[in-house]
This record gives sequence, structure tokens and C-alpha cells, in this order.
Amino acid sequence: MEMTDERVDQGLPPWQFFLLCGMLAATAVVIVATGQTIANIVILSLTVVATSFVGLGVYRTFAPLVSQVLGLSPRVAGGRTRAALEREKALVLRSIKELEFDFAMGKVSQADFDEMAGRLRRRAMGLIVQLDASTGYREQIEREVAAQVTTLAPPQPESHARIGVCPTCSTRNDADARFCKQCGTSLNP
Ligand SMILES: [Zn+2]
Repeated sequence: MEMTDERVDQGLPPWQFFLLCGMLAATAVVIVATGQTIANIVILSLTVVATSFVGLGVYRTFAPLVSQVLGLSPRVAGGRTRAALEREKALVLRSIKELEFDFAMGKVSQADFDEMAGRLRRRAMGLIVQLDASTGYREQIEREVAAQVTTLAPPQPESHARIGVCPTCSTRNDADARFCKQCGTSLNP
């Protein structure tokens, strides 16, 4: 039993942990039930193994919720690209549609629908919030880069408004004029 505890502490994958518990419990049942008929032992063992799978199911259902609540989800840890977030969002939204369709077709019970739809919607909301955050961050960077570029940019070439304006006497000439109509300065050197 000491070995088992050590292995669990070292991070035994949950399904292995539950399977191990189920097998240990089944063995215990067989030992305790010695003297029972073989049929009884088999039924008891199967019940215990089935119980361990129910335990795994419960773990799988609640582990994501717990990690979401505690902020332990790898999604929250960041480092994922925007494209990956967009892909997952599309996937989750499609799953919701499919779930709604299955529910409408009567393939999914009300309880299952409520549980799964709630989980999917929370996930979608989380992704949308993350996408918004990354958009805001990107826009901030783009604004800063734009400000930097403007600061470093050389003086803009003659804008349209200044085309034809004489550099000597400031007379406004036609845009295609080659010489100032006032003083004769060349406008297109
Ligand atoms: Zn002029």
C-alpha cells in the first residue's frame, strides 16, 4: 500500500488511479467475500469496478470546472495564439449547435443537455473574453507602433493641398503648372 500512495503522489494519471482503486477494491472484495459463492464474488467485483468507473466519470466532469474556477486551466496560462483561440471558439460554438440539435431530436436528456450546454457556454465565454483581451492588447501595440512610426517618419512629401503652391511667393498655381504664374519660379525642378 505504501508503494501505491507514493505513485499517486508522483502524479499518477487519474484514470490509472481510479482503475487501480477499482482493482484493489475488487481484490479486497474477493478476499473478504471468501466463503461466498463464485457468482456472488463475481457480481460484487463487477460492482466495485463499475463504481470506480463512475468515480472516473465524476472526476472528468468536475476536474475542468475546478481548474476553471481556480484559474488553473492551461488556456488561462496564455501562450496560445489567437488563431488557436479562434479555432477552439468555432469548435465550441459548433458543439453547442450540435448539442442543441441532438437535444431537439430527443437524443440527449434534459439533465445531460443542461450540464453539457452549461459547460460549453462557459468555455465559449472564456474564449471570447480571452480573444477580446488579446485584441485589446494587439490594438494597444499597434497604436504604440503607429505613434513611434509617426515620430520617426521623415517630413511628409508635398501633400495634395500644397501642389502648385509657389515656394517663393506662395501663389497657388494649377496643379500641373510648371512655372509660377506670379513670379515665374520653376514649380517642378
Ligand atoms: Zn511665385
